Amino acid sequence: MLVLDPGHAVKNEAGKIINAGAQASRRGVLERDVALHVADTIASLLEAQGAKVVMTRTRTNPWRYGFTSQADNRGRAILANMMRADAYIRIHCDWNRDRRFQGFTTYFYRWGSRELAENIHQSLANTFPGHRDNGVKRRSFVSASAHMPAVLVELGVLSNKMEGKELSEDTHQSHLAMAVAEGITNYFAK
Ligand SMILES: [Zn+2]
Repeated sequence: MLVLDPGHAVKNEAGKIINAGAQASRRGVLERDVALHVADTIASLLEAQGAKVVMTRTRTNPWRYGFTSQADNRGRAILANMMRADAYIRIHCDWNRDRRFQGFTTYFYRWGSRELAENIHQSLANTFPGHRDNGVKRRSFVSASAHMPAVLVELGVLSNKMEGKELSEDTHQSHLAMAVAEGITNYFAK
């Protein structure tokens, strides 16, 4: 069983979004929408192979795990722990002040998560040979709370003009989902 976490978009009791995420440009696509669409597609692909997938939020239910972004993110990891997930995968898009910054990056924190990160990253690299590969990196923000292999994928960079546009496209989102799903499948096949 896996827990898939489409990043951001949790509301507080007043209905205000407290963990908003990035945006491509003033009227550009929102990280929380890209993350949700890609995660939904990953879930469908894995479920079609017989996997059990739990989402930390859905289109109709932006569940509330805390009143700050940090508490919210910790709450999502605790959900994965409670579900005794075999893997916890967080889907995000990057943003950078340097508009030239682009590419995909895969993060892990605990060493037991490295292999899952490498499988997902390799699949992205195979699927997108024309995109910048920022590598697999170790960072504590992935989730210190999760007890299972946990990975955070930055699918692309919203602040980059070319990637911001691409991330808004359905076909690109589908290809991203297929790549991540394949990486997860490869990891569990080993
Ligand atoms: Zn994010």
